Amino acid sequence: MRHKGGRERPTPMRYCSRCTLPATFPGVTFDAQGICQYCLRFQPSLIRQQMNRYQLKFAALIKKYRGRSEYDILVSYSGGKDSSFILDLLKNEFGLKVLAFTFDNGFISSAAQENIHRVVEKLGVDHILVKPRFDVLKKIFATAASSDELYSRKSLERASPICTACISLVKSIGLRMAIEKRIPLLGFGWSPGQAPIQSSVMRLNPSFVNLSQKKLLAPLCTILSKEELGPYFLTDTNLALGAQHFPWNVHPLAFLEYSQERIFQRIEALGWQRPADTGVHSTNCLLNSLAIENHKARYHFHPYAWEIANLVRSGRMSRAEGLERIRATEPSSIVDYARERLGLVS
Ligand SMILES: [Zn+2]
Repeated sequence: MRHKGGRERPTPMRYCSRCTLPATFPGVTFDAQGICQYCLRFQPSLIRQQMNRYQLKFAALIKKYRGRSEYDILVSYSGGKDSSFILDLLKNEFGLKVLAFTFDNGFISSAAQENIHRVVEKLGVDHILVKPRFDVLKKIFATAASSDELYSRKSLERASPICTACISLVKSIGLRMAIEKRIPLLGFGWSPGQAPIQSSVMRLNPSFVNLSQKKLLAPLCTILSKEELGPYFLTDTNLALGAQHFPWNVHPLAFLEYSQERIFQRIEALGWQRPADTGVHSTNCLLNSLAIENHKARYHFHPYAWEIANLVRSGRMSRAEGLERIRATEPSSIVDYARERLGLVS
């Protein structure tokens, strides 16, 4: 639209009138009232039933596996609020023997590192820090920031290419560690908007893992050698093991009550402090802000749009807070820091 003076006025972004899904989200449609197809199909009573079903499934797993190995569960611990919360929950409410591991992607903020140390000490859990070579990580993240070849467009509806790269490394390092240490459960702190409840208690299947790993490794092998990538993925020996040697994947926030207030209350009692050194959407990572702005510029929707719309739709976040979060711009100082560290400054 052209106005006096000839200046273009940007059209305001349209969002679902019930959740916060933007009109730029791939495949979204709105009815006459501006409600998206996901909200129209949403059945709140079904969520409650599913949560009960998965709670029972998890309880049965605990009964079966607790005390059979040195550790009952290996937990991916980023130092962020959600994974700090599940560490406490799994140890103190479910009585599990927990081993935590942190994947250091080279961008853990100082405040998050201090949170990690305080929380694992206070909880009394063993903790392993996995820090891959930064030159390898730098190549992977820098490629994710510019290439459209690494991941399918469908997977990018759920997370940015940079976060997808990071998360796939976390998952695969965790899986290999759980197999090699014979730990029967592998836990993640995905929010209920991030990962569907159907995958919240699920045994990993070697042939499926093999296929996804091949798909993931093929494009990475164009920038790194097999030797460089080897330590972060499953070996042929791992993959040849039977399904009984593979852990169950668990992300308990999908089937438990998810309240931000309760999360902060529990973790602050463990010495966790809200970091002031990260962007809008992360409580631990200094790469996240670049990942978000890079995704927005390339695909024209916020990479957290799907997660936040799910949280709003299911009543776990207010619509006003959801809108505020996906309309926010990440701090340019943090974006620039990450860009420079990845060598993306022209
Ligand atoms: Zn909606």
